[in-house]
Amino acid sequence: MKKRVCILYTGGTIGMKPGPQGYAPEAGYLGRVMASMPDFSSPEMPGYVIREYAPLLDSSNMGPRHWLAIARDIADSYQDFDGFVVIHGTDTMAYTASALPFMLEGLAKPVVLTGSQIPLCRVRSDGRENLVTSLMVVAQTAIPEVCLCFGNRLLRGCRSTKVDAAGFQAFDSPNYPDLGHIGVAIRTHPELILPARPVSGLTVHPLSDARVGALRLFPGISAELVANVLRSPLQGLVLETYGMGNGPSNDADLMDVLAEACQRGVVIVNCTQCLRGTVDQGGYQAGSALARAGVVSGADMTAEAALTKMIYLFSLGLAPDDIRERMTRNLRGELTENHGRT
Ligand code: ASP
Repeated sequence: MKKRVCILYTGGTIGMKPGPQGYAPEAGYLGRVMASMPDFSSPEMPGYVIREYAPLLDSSNMGPRHWLAIARDIADSYQDFDGFVVIHGTDTMAYTASALPFMLEGLAKPVVLTGSQIPLCRVRSDGRENLVTSLMVVAQTAIPEVCLCFGNRLLRGCRSTKVDAAGFQAFDSPNYPDLGHIGVAIRTHPELILPARPVSGLTVHPLSDARVGALRLFPGISAELVANVLRSPLQGLVLETYGMGNGPSNDADLMDVLAEACQRGVVIVNCTQCLRGTVDQGGYQAGSALARAGVVSGADMTAEAALTKMIYLFSLGLAPDDIRERMTRNLRGELTENHGRT
């Protein structure tokens, strides 16, 4: 039987048209372009329906309430389709791809995010290939995960990050292998994919207005600036540190500011600014000082995964210590647990 895919079209370059102020989305346009392209009506393709969001958005304008709308739409028509393709702008696609796995607990069907760097209306568009491949991934695989499919790569959503503003391979998964190989055939790597689950078990976790933020350390950053960021009502912070998770440990004022915030219940998670590798707060004195202040390790999570995970955990109404503990644990394949590391 032909597979059925639900396409949730949120916006992004793929369906945009050039206008007086640059590219902008236009309602109904993507569906018309797809209907005019033979690939999408080929017998090899699954059947699909398009649910277009209103308004269509440049993903720079998206946030937690849009992630929740996507999660709810998936849950509402979960039984009617074999999987979902979410068409999304590339700018914040990695955030949405990181948030959805936390919100969609017990997911048993593929949810594939895709988009393009050049709109479909342009001759060299990468949109056709990305969209065709994403539909095929849903039709041919039963990956029970939120994935990101772009530039012939299939990545775990909560491991993905945007690494190229203009290249066709715009995303990478620096700390986890690709979930599959997309060549002449689409082959998944079962040993890398989360275990299959019963289809009846999907639960959507709504997000609340968690007050979280991210701060990138830089040489010379002042204790005053950090104190201002950590002021109430901030509940959680992704601290983007150097190398293996190091910070300016000789700055006693800065360390005091961090320690005081942790004692007040602010959850501070250490993620490295490096694209690849893991935090080990025990590796250097400059890292262990952060641990002593109460900062917890984000291991090899991307900043996108750490931030969205924190929003999810605060939305569950957990106490700061529970959140700290879960931030260091693997919940959806977003981190490699650091056995023995801090
Ligand atoms: N600004 C666009 C967006 O994120 C970029 C893209 O789709 O590639 O919506």
